[in-house]
Amino acid sequence: MVMEKSDKIKIVQKLIENGIQLNRRNYLKITAVLFPGLLAGTAGCSKSGEQSDWKGVSFPKVLFHNFKLFNGIDNLLKKDLILLIEGEKIRGIERMGDLTRYKGYEIIDLKGKTVLPGLIDNHTHMTAPMMMKPNPNMLLQYYEQVKLNYRNCILSGVTTTRDVGAFPGMISRFGEKVDNNEIPGPRVISSLSMIAARKGAEFGMPDYIPYFYDPFSKFFYGGNFAERPSNTEEIREICEELIKKGAAWLKTLHHDQTCSYFPRKVPNHSDEGYETILELGKKHGIKSAMHAMFLTGFKKGVDLGYHTLEHIPMNGVIPDIHIEKFINKGMAIMPTIMIFGDAFHHDRILNLLKSKDDEYLVPEARKQMLTTLKYNRERANIDLSEEEIRKLSYQPKYERDMFHFTILNLKKLKKMGATVGLGTDSV
Ligand SMILES: [Zn+2]
Repeated sequence: MVMEKSDKIKIVQKLIENGIQLNRRNYLKITAVLFPGLLAGTAGCSKSGEQSDWKGVSFPKVLFHNFKLFNGIDNLLKKDLILLIEGEKIRGIERMGDLTRYKGYEIIDLKGKTVLPGLIDNHTHMTAPMMMKPNPNMLLQYYEQVKLNYRNCILSGVTTTRDVGAFPGMISRFGEKVDNNEIPGPRVISSLSMIAARKGAEFGMPDYIPYFYDPFSKFFYGGNFAERPSNTEEIREICEELIKKGAAWLKTLHHDQTCSYFPRKVPNHSDEGYETILELGKKHGIKSAMHAMFLTGFKKGVDLGYHTLEHIPMNGVIPDIHIEKFINKGMAIMPTIMIFGDAFHHDRILNLLKSKDDEYLVPEARKQMLTTLKYNRERANIDLSEEEIRKLSYQPKYERDMFHFTILNLKKLKKMGATVGLGTDSV
């Protein structure tokens, strides 16, 4: 279908009225390629849409006016400017003047919206199904959920993500779709699967994520969300396999106990295992990230010289000496503070899910998330026996009580001059 110019303008105006941010590629690079599919999604129409709904339209030259500009450098919003986009580039930002001077430009009124560079989320899981219990509904709806994850990222203004744990096949397929402008989504740079620990039949964190042994699921997802090597040799094989599949770095976890007042030990890799990951990453010129929510993990990551630490210790204050070493080794940390605070917001999240259900989640994901949230909220407000607490991976009361340590540690890291990145741990 060939789209008329006036139709394109209508689409753009509608998008603006619906509060849509432009995709980074489009905002920063292109000829305003916009997604009618986004429009359908926010206007409450079908978002399960066929691919054609998501196809972009383009203008060779665009002029935006009537907006506030946040340039990412100055701590203010600039007004009375025009933004000129030509081909794949921003040609210029000029003072507002006589618009008739700009011959050949599509003139678009942004109606007072704020324009800003695309945001970068340094810690995501784009292919997380939001469904922990595998069942036929999960299989049927999974693809749609990931499509929503990608779309919602763009709607939040995030146009690049660093993904630290994904189904390898899925993330590659979705990357291609975004590149071809078939769906709206951010640029994703991924570690592919996490390299998680296993001791016999016992799983290390994240122990709640299902592991698929059967070849059909492995084929469908292109591998597991979290791989489970149980010795150094298997770690070596997994690393080589992930790098061959295109991992942009390697991601592992150090998490020696459950998050609770009556913790249960959970398996980690051996030191040799962690060193192998680093060594193979270095051999192939990629960096390694370590999930570390406890002081022991922070120390381990620093001692071994991992490039980044994911999350922040929640069980005490990090000693100065470890932070100094962290800084001297040129490491960075992604604290993901928001997720530590989840336990404070059960009601808010529940209300959000009830009011904006199909905007974020497919029906099966919504069902499972509501069940989990209600369960957690219940657990947060009653006194549990020691035995019950031991069974939990995360005890909400413990998480809430320890929250102040995450804030203290973040302040301390900042004050001492550590490199701190922003990441949400969301999808
Ligand atoms: Zn994460």
